[in-house]
Amino acid sequence: MAVLPIVVYGDPVLRVKARPVARVDAEIRQLLADMHETMVQAPGIGLAANQVGRPVRCLVASVDDSNLLMVNPRIVSRKGSYEAIEACLSLPGLQATVPRAERVVVAGLNRNGKPTKVEAEGLLARCLQHEIDHLDGIVFPDRALPGSIHWVREEGVDEEGEPILVREDTTWEEAHEALLGLRRHRLAAATE
Ligand code: ZN
Repeated sequence: MAVLPIVVYGDPVLRVKARPVARVDAEIRQLLADMHETMVQAPGIGLAANQVGRPVRCLVASVDDSNLLMVNPRIVSRKGSYEAIEACLSLPGLQATVPRAERVVVAGLNRNGKPTKVEAEGLLARCLQHEIDHLDGIVFPDRALPGSIHWVREEGVDEEGEPILVREDTTWEEAHEALLGLRRHRLAAATE
């Protein structure tokens, strides 16, 4: 297993509609295993394949005790709705309040290529909707409640050594520009 580099917003791969997997073969199983490892290391609770530069319909998620690896996931039913704050490994430091269905049923294939169905609620349901959005080229600020987009920055540490987090409101337009700048900076650092 390998930890893969996570692409930062601005990379065109995050805006493409990922293609369905025709056959779950050893290469796809390797990708799923690497994505799981990458998510655990990050750390995060979910990851879509285009976040590691592969525009194919695969996702991994890990919430509480459930570890999911899914191929060609699609939402077949949704119920209820609730709002909560989301963040994304590809949009570091950005958060926003996003309305999502409270419960979803997601159908797809497991790592053996067999049909599988997952009934999820709460955080896992939210995570699956966020990752399936990625596979359709959608990122969470696209769905954020107006006025809820903000940066969370660390400004030093408190007396107990815990980071002091500061919230700074922004707009999607401003954040978009800042993330493009961050990506340019990282690409430049990587080629030095
Ligand atoms: Zn994400």
